[in-house]
Amino acid sequence: MRFVFFVLILFLTACQTNAEKMSTVDMYNASGDMIGTVALSEQEDGVQVKVKLEGLKPGFHGIHVHEFPKCEGPDFTTAGNHYNPEGKEHGLMHPDGPHLGDLPNIEADAGGLVDAELMLPGATLMEGKNSLLKEDGTSFVVQEGPDDGLTQPGGGGGVRIACGELKTNPEETTEESPTDPTEFNEEQEKS
Ligand SMILES: [Zn+2]
Repeated sequence: MRFVFFVLILFLTACQTNAEKMSTVDMYNASGDMIGTVALSEQEDGVQVKVKLEGLKPGFHGIHVHEFPKCEGPDFTTAGNHYNPEGKEHGLMHPDGPHLGDLPNIEADAGGLVDAELMLPGATLMEGKNSLLKEDGTSFVVQEGPDDGLTQPGGGGGVRIACGELKTNPEETTEESPTDPTEFNEEQEKS
């Protein structure tokens, strides 16, 4: 027990030297336009999620953490399924749920604006099984319609309309580096 406590202290000390335990995700719609942000901050019992979006259809929309930090429009299927490290069923109202990445619906006002403050209980931005920054990271995806909190596997909220990547290493790009055209020309000249 003392050892665990000691490790915890070390861990906390290490974290203080890093940047704040916060992160901001830029959200893009299917046309590739940035429509707002999801700001994350580490809390004692989970991760606080502040959602600020514009240009949405007025009404409720599902929003979830997805398993891959890859938002390729227009359908954003590259983000994968809901983030579910504990192998649960989908839905905040499901008796065997929810996925760790399940969040309450957000509501866009008559002007299409969203300003919501949500929680992801049990999640963390630090290391661990429930880290939103495991492996390469995760992503946030907004749906066309509301999540009904029960329907498997994704809540029945319809198509994905916005996506944002939460990457472990934001400097890293997933694009392949282009081939060097000079090299190619030299090869051509030789032959
Ligand atoms: Zn889910």
